[in-house]
Amino acid sequence: MKKIFILIAAVALGCSTSKQSAVSSTDALNLTADGKLFTALFQQRAAEYKALCFQAFNIAHLRVDEALQQPQTKPMAIVTDIDETVLDNSAYDVKQSLVGKDYEQKSWEQWTGLSKADTIPGALSFLKYAGSKGIKIFYLTNRAEAERKGTLENLIRFGFPDAVNEHLILKQNVSSKESRRQTIAQTHNIIMLMGDNLADFSALFDKKPEDERMKNTYASASEFGKRFIVLPNPVYGDWENSVYQYNNKLTAAQKDSIIKSVLKSY
Ligand SMILES: [Mg+2]
Repeated sequence: MKKIFILIAAVALGCSTSKQSAVSSTDALNLTADGKLFTALFQQRAAEYKALCFQAFNIAHLRVDEALQQPQTKPMAIVTDIDETVLDNSAYDVKQSLVGKDYEQKSWEQWTGLSKADTIPGALSFLKYAGSKGIKIFYLTNRAEAERKGTLENLIRFGFPDAVNEHLILKQNVSSKESRRQTIAQTHNIIMLMGDNLADFSALFDKKPEDERMKNTYASASEFGKRFIVLPNPVYGDWENSVYQYNNKLTAAQKDSIIKSVLKSY
């Protein structure tokens, strides 16, 4: 970010031949770090972001009321993701971006160990409502076992329903959530899945190439706002990973280059 400020200052001062102005916009921007400051700004400061979250949970509320009218053979359950679905980790993204870094597991676990994440707007009141109607909540997340204590403390701090070990389903061997969903479905009728990442809903989206996730999204169009409740996440997710073809060994410069190569202009 510092480079951007230098560049802006140089332009503002009319230093067209100064050393600073030699910093091109290509050099100054690191999209995976600086770019995430901008998307985190949307998550933290845009009333529109909050409105989108409220919209998702308002629809979820209607769907719960519909489900309550239906006869059930098994106890009802809502399966929800945690990060950027019920807890807001944008402070972590900002902290990383300010030192020029993207996500990394070690600093992430330090963050989740603090149990300091705020709630996503509308998430707590919606889940409390569902819980009050006897619907069981399962927190199905790809947080690691090492993050169990901090995660539970974070959920308990706000009074999320079913914030107990048995309802916190962490990542074990695989990132796909499909087998964990199936285990819950053996004993419960899953009336709704909530998430910010399409893999939170169906194996149709597990590590799939961009074109396939797009095709499957169109094929599943009628499920969104029905059984699938989607939360906005402009900062990270498989939408980004799929652009890199799930190659987690790329440098920031390589990612920047890929991003610029896939974007449309005119
Ligand atoms: Mg998430």
